[in-house]
Amino acid sequence: MMTVKDILNLTDVKNQNLPKIVADSAFKKYDVLYLPVFEESAQNMMKDCKELKSLKLTGKKKEAHNLVVDGQLWKVRGMGKKGKMTPRTIRRMFGSMFLGGEVVRLKSIAILCDEADWAYFAAIGIHVAALNPSIYKPKAPKKPALTVALVNESFKGATLAKVKKEVKRGENTAEAKNLMRILGATPPNSLSTEAYAEVVQKLARKWGVKCKNVSKRELKKYELLNAVSHGSGHDSKLLILTIPVKGSKKNTVVVGKGICYDSGGMQGKGSHMKSMKEDMAGSASVLSTVLNIVKNKHQLKETTHFLLPLAENMMGTSAQRADDVWTAGDGQTVEIVHTDAEGRLVMGDAICYAKNNLKNIDKVYTIATLTGSCVVALGEVYTGNLCNDDELRQEAVEAGQKTGDLVFSGPWDLEYDDNISPVADVANLGQKERDAGWLKAGYYLARFVPKDKKTGEHTAKFCHFDIAGSIDMDGSGAPHRRKGFSSGVGVGFLTELLSK
Ligand SMILES: [Zn+2]
Repeated sequence: MMTVKDILNLTDVKNQNLPKIVADSAFKKYDVLYLPVFEESAQNMMKDCKELKSLKLTGKKKEAHNLVVDGQLWKVRGMGKKGKMTPRTIRRMFGSMFLGGEVVRLKSIAILCDEADWAYFAAIGIHVAALNPSIYKPKAPKKPALTVALVNESFKGATLAKVKKEVKRGENTAEAKNLMRILGATPPNSLSTEAYAEVVQKLARKWGVKCKNVSKRELKKYELLNAVSHGSGHDSKLLILTIPVKGSKKNTVVVGKGICYDSGGMQGKGSHMKSMKEDMAGSASVLSTVLNIVKNKHQLKETTHFLLPLAENMMGTSAQRADDVWTAGDGQTVEIVHTDAEGRLVMGDAICYAKNNLKNIDKVYTIATLTGSCVVALGEVYTGNLCNDDELRQEAVEAGQKTGDLVFSGPWDLEYDDNISPVADVANLGQKERDAGWLKAGYYLARFVPKDKKTGEHTAKFCHFDIAGSIDMDGSGAPHRRKGFSSGVGVGFLTELLSK
């Protein structure tokens, strides 16, 4: 198995054999040239370039030509309408061109980059695509890293400087996304709650971010956080990273689910257990968001506290049962209806910890691989969202469009909330458990969000993300990234929402 040091080594970009990304106004010196062609530009490209004249380019999707010009391989690829390109499709275009070029064992690839504005997403796409699970096999032979050039005749002077800056920013965001993807892919016997806590603390120290590992004594009254780990040989943990904002009177809280392994508990998952090592992806996306914020020097709106509740949901003889009733950190009692609905238990208690220790909580964000129901509803394209504030909901959807981590917001209507129990304040599953489970999991969490004692109305905005589908753990068959790593979703919209 791997040690904490091994895991930290993997998270270091120096050990990831990533390509060097450069910007250039000339393209001749590279082994291969990728030419994305768009419907709007196909005619002009043929007019400007005599080698392309005979190809009758349309720019339509799936159009593909390979030709050799002065000893250089040109790969001409139809990409459809340029006006329809989005941050998501730009990322994917550059990612799949990188992987398509790499298989032919070249030293350098040039990709025509139509717009200087695309460089940020191009760099993300390339470095996400380049991360290779062979990093887990130290004895595997390493190929020398490629050079990838973003080329355009206009990349000179101030434009070139801008493109270079955007590439650097994109590499930073990719580093953050890859951190999340590496932690998610790390085998769960190596990334125990204790090892993960150590990794988080060491990374936070490296980044210069304050990090608290809450003591076992202080955690005692958070029965739900602890109960999830009762069947495991590993204790539950709560890590809190804080980025203060000078003059900020309000606090933002971000909670990410960190279930280091989810066997489903006593009620089990049966044959659906494989890949449950990645049930800590919500917490990893929160941690990676901190890295993205630090590296790209984002200014935050408010002092922000990043909470990572960690636990392992196993079936040991002391494991919690369905029918158990536990008391949360804010005094609410919770009946366990299903032991596989454990992510909401640790996250609810993390919100309680924030309530008990912070004043003026303005916003609570939660992110988790929370429900199979969200996968059924939205598949792997959109992250499911639930939000109690119209303006913030709109912001969340826009943050998704702007970063390419797409967000679909469901209805905020407490008529759905049937998380009720005859013997406790709340049940950890809705009574009609199959119906709208991804919404009900959010309404469960909403019960712990700060409320006015008299009116019972929320005093904080609440915005919840379910990435169970959009994490796309396997990614099998995706041309823009390798099998073995997830999509790294969440870093984009979280950074966008938290930053000024
Ligand atoms: Zn579960």
